[in-house]
Amino acid sequence: MSAGHAGESTYHYLCIGCPLGCRLELDESQGEIVEVRGNSCKKGEEFARQEHHDPRRLVTTTVAIEGARWQRVPVKTSASVPKALVRELCAALMGVQVHAPIAAGDIIVADVLGTGVDVVATRSMPAV
Ligand code: SF4
Repeated sequence: MSAGHAGESTYHYLCIGCPLGCRLELDESQGEIVEVRGNSCKKGEEFARQEHHDPRRLVTTTVAIEGARWQRVPVKTSASVPKALVRELCAALMGVQVHAPIAAGDIIVADVLGTGVDVVATRSMPAV
């Protein structure tokens, strides 16, 4: 954050909406967003506003699986979760073990950490 004029503050964010990675600047005055700059498309402005008030991330990782050809199955959150919970969520998934067969889209953990978001498998793994 940097201080602007007349109680205005500027916050800097890196847009993760696409590989271009635009550097965004958001001006806030008295709790109100007054301007977003640096975005090359509308998505960047939406990202800056969301990131400013309620930063969220999709999480992709793996969990242990038993009885399949591989030892871990890829999973992701079905929607974005608060950024502040990402570390805790990954730690919670470290202790999860599922059993084959698993189909892509199967719910691995429902309502993870009470977020209302499920963790789902992104790949099918038949039993061996
Ligand atoms: S502002 Fe638009 S063009 Fe720039 S990184 Fe974000 S999504 Fe991509």
